[in-house]
Amino acid sequence: MTIKKGRVFSGARPTGRQHLGNYLGAIRNYVALQENYDCVYCIVDLHALTTLEDTSKLREWTYEMALDWLAAGIDPEGRDTILFVQSHVPQVTELHTMLSMVTPLGRLTRLPTFKEKVRQQPENINYGLVGYPVLMAADITLYKADTVPVGVDQAPHLEFTRDIVRRFNHRFGEVLVEPKAKYTDFPKVLGLDGENKMSKSMGNHIEIAATPAEIEERVMTMVTDPQRRRLSDPGRPEVCNVFTLHGVFSPDEVDQIEADCRNADIGCVQCKKLFAKNLADYFAPFRRRRAELASDPDRVWEILRNGAREASEIASEVMGGVREAIHLP
Ligand code: ADP
Repeated sequence: MTIKKGRVFSGARPTGRQHLGNYLGAIRNYVALQENYDCVYCIVDLHALTTLEDTSKLREWTYEMALDWLAAGIDPEGRDTILFVQSHVPQVTELHTMLSMVTPLGRLTRLPTFKEKVRQQPENINYGLVGYPVLMAADITLYKADTVPVGVDQAPHLEFTRDIVRRFNHRFGEVLVEPKAKYTDFPKVLGLDGENKMSKSMGNHIEIAATPAEIEERVMTMVTDPQRRRLSDPGRPEVCNVFTLHGVFSPDEVDQIEADCRNADIGCVQCKKLFAKNLADYFAPFRRRRAELASDPDRVWEILRNGAREASEIASEVMGGVREAIHLP
């Protein structure tokens, strides 16, 4: 039996079907962490409200995302993993209110992510958007997580959580667990344009649930080395996104591909066809598991409801301690 190192919390907004960026940048790591940690994974639907104008797809996107996560190997039935939807455990909003009382406003408005959002959506600077990191602090502490996997760009958020926990505990007693960051080297996956980060909103993505035909269609549009115009031009794998991804999905062939590309022994079309095939093969078991899960949607919702029940148990215990510490009558 392995002794678990602690409890991980991580959440992502319900964005529907997941793409290669989500898979390589998050899901794959979530699956691996289950080996050594108790994991609490949350589909943070309340967080989604801060930027979403049209909420009509929230249910569908939650379901599609849960399907992808489960089929990829997040395993609440076989392991000590809790998978649930944030709003199914409403105590998080209660803890959010309490934490907000020890949160200096200036600390929130100085966060780089807030400043970025102000630039992105100047007409919609709502109160929820400012308080987003407080809700995140509530997510982490409500489930007594001691470890949060973060990339360097999210480090200020976790520092913020640690700061708020210290302020809270200093004022009311040692009730909340101060989490530490587990710095993880998340790759930044570029989109089909080979330039921007892969994202659903940019439309430059490949869904991991795509069929082999859909994968090939998308892959054939990928931008490669722009200087390589003719088949006889030698390619530069180091600037080619297809080559970077071959490194992940074609481990046995990547050295040969590199040599063939540099020597112009292989053209971009052939190289992309090979990539499309390897990508489709890699996700074949995933597609089978996904189809099986999708044949019984009630089961997926049941898994999420069970997750919420387990999460509620931890939340009730923590909130009991918090209410007592604050002397709420
Ligand atoms: P959120 O804002 O809730 O993190 P996203 O859909 O933007 O939702 O991302 C979900 C997860 O997938 C995050 O951990 C994010 O870092 C990761 N991710 C998304 N796009 C990419 C990408 N192109 N490359 C690497 N990781 C990505």
